[in-house]
Formats: sequence, C-alpha cells, structure tokens
Amino acid sequence: MLEVKNLHVAYGGIRALKGISLSVQKGEIVTIIGANGAGKSTLLNTISGFLKPVRGSVLYNGKSLPRRPDLIVKSGICHVPEGRLVFANLSLEDNLLLGAYLRNDRKAVQADLKKVYQIFPRLKERRTQRAGTLSGGEQQMLAMGRALMTNGELMLMDEPSLGLAPLLVQTVFGIIEQFRGLGKTILLVEQNAFKALQLADRAYILEQGRIVKEGPARDLARDPAVKAAYLGSRGGGGG
Ligand code: ATP
Repeated sequence: MLEVKNLHVAYGGIRALKGISLSVQKGEIVTIIGANGAGKSTLLNTISGFLKPVRGSVLYNGKSLPRRPDLIVKSGICHVPEGRLVFANLSLEDNLLLGAYLRNDRKAVQADLKKVYQIFPRLKERRTQRAGTLSGGEQQMLAMGRALMTNGELMLMDEPSLGLAPLLVQTVFGIIEQFRGLGKTILLVEQNAFKALQLADRAYILEQGRIVKEGPARDLARDPAVKAAYLGSRGGGGG
C-alpha cells in the first residue's frame, strides 16, 4: 500500500533522513521505533507532504503521491500528529467535523461521527466543550477521532501515547487495535517500544535518520540489541 524508497530529507544543512526505505501492506500495523531526534516525525511529515524530500519517493497504491497535504489526505492518508494539534478555540465536535472537511458524502460523514462517538463515548459527552479545555488524554482521543473522520485507509500516528498516564496508554493502544478492526492500515511511530512491538505486525528501528533493523515485531521484541537499547534491562516496561 505504501512504499517509501531511499528517502532523504534535510532541514537546511542538517540531514534528518538518510536514505529510508520501507513498506506497509494493506491491513498491517507497522511501527517505527526510535529515540528522540531519530527522524520519526520527519518521516511522517514527509509522507504527509509537509516536507519535501531532497531525494527519494513515496508511492501509495503503486502511484507517486502528489506533494500537497490536502491532496494526500484525499488520496486516503491521514495523519495523527505528535502533540495532537487540536483547534483549541473550536468545540470538540467542530474539530471532528474539520477532519471531514474535504469530503462531500454528508450522510457517510454523519455515520462516521456516530462511529467516533461509539468508540470514544467520552468525546460524545463533551462534544460542545472547547477543545483547548480537554485533558491531554481527551485531546489524543479527539486527534484520533478526527483522523477517522477523514475516512482515510492509511493512518499515520505520531507518538499517540506521549505524555499519557499508563492506563490511558493502554486505552490508546486498544483503540489502535480497534482501528485495525475497522479495516485501517496503520504506520505507528513510537518511543514506547514495548507496547508498540506488542501491537504491531512488523517494525523498523530508526537511528539517526537510518533504518538499522527491521523484521516481524515479535522477533525484534526478542532481539538482544533491541532489548538493550529500547526495552530496558527487564525487557519490558516501555519508555
Ligand atoms: P522525537 O521522538 O523527539 O519527536 P523524532 O524521531 O520524531 O524525535 P524528528 O523530529 O524527526 O525526530 O527530528 C529529526 C532531526 O531533525 C533532529 O535532529 C531534529 O533536531 C531535526 N529537526 C526536526 N525539525 C527540524 C526543523 N524544523 N529545523 C531544523 N531541524 C529540525
């Protein structure tokens, strides 16, 4: 479904991605694990069209993606950005409806809104509340709900568990699993390697702009080097 080939991205003189190649098949959950500054957000922002690569290409269903974020959303790719980025002064429901801004299938949009409220009953209770007054966890649910409202097939998720209490982290990972049940394909960037490797089918390890390891998530979770670098001495616990 998604094929990234030899992607190089730079911020001025700083090279953030140095030849990344990866693929995501329909129906998969693929995770990218990496430390702070490894280039994870840069990768997702490039796929979404916010950054222009110096070299390399991104193919979606075999075709080159247009280099415009709005057209990329229309192609079926949606992005749940790091830090949620909700519109603080708009109501929760208006934020959700903005996810559907590029759609003109109004009935289906209403049906999707219902679906979002079914998955996140907490959002339904607060639908008239200003998004800026929601808790961090609620804003994360909102950002995920907004992505569902685009009706995209491929969801790019940038550290959805960041800054959340352990119980909510569990909820967020459970919701990603539910998204898979809805037929979504997911590319998940995470620092919480333990949880991400439990959930994903396949994983890539990103270090300083390069992929240094890839394979089935189950295998990487058992790999001694991955355990030492990303899973802590007990081989678990996240972070
Ligand atoms: P984190 O887990 O901390 O969010 P990340 O893996 O998502 O990190 P990126 O945000 O992609 O990492 O950053 C990759 C590299 O690019 C870092 O060295 C960072 O300092 C640099 N970088 C990111 N954004 C910019 C920018 N707008 N201008 C200059 N350098 C940037």
